[in-house]
Amino acid sequence: MKIAIFNNDAKNSQMITQSLVASLEKNGLTIDNQHPDIVITVGGDGTLLGAFQHYVDQIDTIRFVGLHTGHLGFYTDWLSTELANLVSSLTHDNGQRVSYPLLDMTVVHESGEQYHFLALNEAAIKQPVGTLVADIYLGGQLFERFRGDGIAVATPTGSTAYNKANGGAVLHPKLSAIQMSEIASINNRVFRTLGSPLVVPKGEEIIVKPKSNHFLVMYDQSEIKGRHINELRLRVADKQVHFAAYRHVDFWQRVHRAFINDIES
Ligand code: NAP
Repeated sequence: MKIAIFNNDAKNSQMITQSLVASLEKNGLTIDNQHPDIVITVGGDGTLLGAFQHYVDQIDTIRFVGLHTGHLGFYTDWLSTELANLVSSLTHDNGQRVSYPLLDMTVVHESGEQYHFLALNEAAIKQPVGTLVADIYLGGQLFERFRGDGIAVATPTGSTAYNKANGGAVLHPKLSAIQMSEIASINNRVFRTLGSPLVVPKGEEIIVKPKSNHFLVMYDQSEIKGRHINELRLRVADKQVHFAAYRHVDFWQRVHRAFINDIES
């Protein structure tokens, strides 16, 4: 089995990576950062997002494992004190995995050219200066003319990130759906949006047609300038992201751990 390690720049992560490589090699596992079967990320959820985009062309065959160096994250299950346990799980690997939905974004240019992107957390269409004006189509029909800072469309695993800050619901990743949330929409007697997040099932599309070209399109940690973009089509991707499932961490436990842990009952 070939293993890649993808770490962030923190000194702690670099030291853990060194120990991990030594331990993997000692146990007869091969390090291959080009065409791995497993990608171990060392850092936080942000590091896993980086690894996902780095290996996005190989996600059909790759399984990810997240080892965190700070706090427990949504994509990072392993503590740096559990290296021996992790290496033992890798040596006994039998292909066990858990898969989660992804967001598919098609960017349609004025020229008619189309580009596809996959996101693990979300895509956001935002206008940094002035108001984003964009027509939003649902079910093939014009649904609303949005005015505000922007909109975000998140996967279920991304629902605990930017989406949550926008007042979106936390979605269990067994649901094959995407969620649109508004970022500071203008709602008054003249302008109106739905004003609440909405969830779209697999097979349906959210189409966003911005009315100017001063906007940015973010997907996970990346950014595209809005110039010459006519529309964005967002839907649940046909592909999924796979994680090596050596042990089960219940999704609601992750949510509890991340957001509620400190409250005494
Ligand atoms: P960052 O600004 O350095 O960190 C964003 C924070 O979001 C980090 O604490 C990160 O966890 C956490 N995070 C990432 N994915 C998550 C998930 N699925 N569930 C819960 N928390 C998550 O940016 P970054 O590390 O490059 O991550 C990019 C992400 O930041 C975007 O995909 C977006 O979701 C999020 N974001 C959030 C807001 C907001 O909440 N207002 C605004 C912009 C972007 P770690 O510390 O473990 O890495």
